This record gives sequence, structure tokens and C-alpha cells, in this order.
Amino acid sequence: MRVSVLASGSGGNCTLFESAATSVLVDAGIGPRALEESLIELGARAPDAIVITHAHQDHVGHAARIAKRRRIPVYMTEATAREVNLPAQVDEYRFETREPFAIGDLVLSPLPLPHDAANVAVKISDDEGTACVVTDVGEPTGRLVDHLRDCDVVLLESNYEESMLASGPYPWGLKQRVASARGHLSNKQAHELLRRLTARTHTVVLVHLSETNNTREHAIEWARDALPLKVHVRVAAPRETLTARTGPFRYSKPPVQLSLL
Ligand SMILES: [Zn+2]
Ligand SMILES: [Zn+2]
Repeated sequence: MRVSVLASGSGGNCTLFESAATSVLVDAGIGPRALEESLIELGARAPDAIVITHAHQDHVGHAARIAKRRRIPVYMTEATAREVNLPAQVDEYRFETREPFAIGDLVLSPLPLPHDAANVAVKISDDEGTACVVTDVGEPTGRLVDHLRDCDVVLLESNYEESMLASGPYPWGLKQRVASARGHLSNKQAHELLRRLTARTHTVVLVHLSETNNTREHAIEWARDALPLKVHVRVAAPRETLTARTGPFRYSKPPVQLSLL
């Protein structure tokens, strides 16, 4: 399975999961034109469906336009559907927060996450491997650690550096919201989860970084501290395509041959 982050952060989130037969978008925080450009850049097939994690605009904002234009269905929980009004032409499917469901040859396993909207982590498997996208998490949970045990690739929120949020420009109320148990995951909280991943995980992609309260360097430093050196750590930029693959780790380039002088 190929996993491609197309957009990440408070400006919009969108990740494409492609197996041999099926292609699914998790979240639709970019517009149809931006999506089209990303699909062309990746040489990807048209997506078969959109799965929405929760009803915040940076995740669901463009779902109606993409679904209508591409004539593809939208999958949501009942709680999310209550907050989102899709046009009548769009086919809607519901999923339960703890029950796996299939789209084509992909199996999707959701897990509820603590956040200030009904939110889920989405774990996706094909016959080759498993990946999970986990964003907008107020605090680490034991259930989440269990959910990530069999993942080759983990996309995990690493939203803010505690000291930067505390001393940064956000108003007091917003700082409280972000740092609360129903807000976002700090680098330090991401570290708590990352150090409990199993040896199965070969690639970690840090997502949903705050552009105000975090830096790539801070996020990488915490993640590197939590993970064995052999785990590949990458950071998703707000609007740049980043691709990872499930299954046993394959280097994209052959290892460099050192010539003996
Ligand atoms: Zn978000
Ligand atoms: Zn959110």
C-alpha cells in the first residue's frame, strides 16, 4: 500500500491510501484542483471514496465539492454526519467508531480519539501491510497504543512544542484549548506514544505540526529520541506531497557503494 500525505496542518489535511485495487482519501482539507494536481504528481488513480475523521473544517472542508465533482461516496460516523451537511447528490455511508469496515480490498479500522469533536484514528490494511493516520488527539491513550501495534507506517500528530505554545502569540483561551485533553498532541505527548510502538513500525510521519507553536526540528528531535535509529522519521509539510509504503521497508535508492581507494 502506498500512503501519500497531500496536505497537513490547520490549513487542511488530506491523505491518500492506495492498494493494488482501491484508493481512499482520508479527510478532504484541500480543494478539487489541488487534489487533481497532487494525483497527477503522484501518478495516482482517481480515489474511490472519502473517509472523514471529524467535522472540523481542516478535515471536512472540501469533502462536498470533491465528492460531487468526482462522484465518489463519503464515509463518516453518525456524530460527524450530524455536523456536516453534504449535498443530496453525494452518497453517504456511516461507519461505527470501533468496527472495522471494507472499501474495496482495503480494511479500515477506526478508533475514537479524545478531541473537541467526535474524532477517529483510521487504520487501513491491505494484504501487504498496515498504516494508521492519527491527528487531532488531546492526549495519548492506552487504546491508541494497542491500535498502533501492527502498523508498518504511523502518521502521528506532533502539533506543538509546549514552551512555544506557552510563550507564543495565541490568546489564553486558545492556548488552553490546544493544550487540553481534548485539544492537540504536543511533541512530548507524541514521544509518549512513539516510544511504545512495536518493532513492526518502520516509518513514522509526523503530521499536523502547528506553524506558530512548533518547528520541524523540535518535532524531529522528540521523535528521534523516542524511536530506534532504524525507524525512518519524516515530517509532513503543510502543502507538499510525502509518500511512504507499508510492508517490509524498501529503500527508495540502492545503498551507496563505498569504493575502496
Ligand atoms: Zn485538524
Ligand atoms: Zn480537529
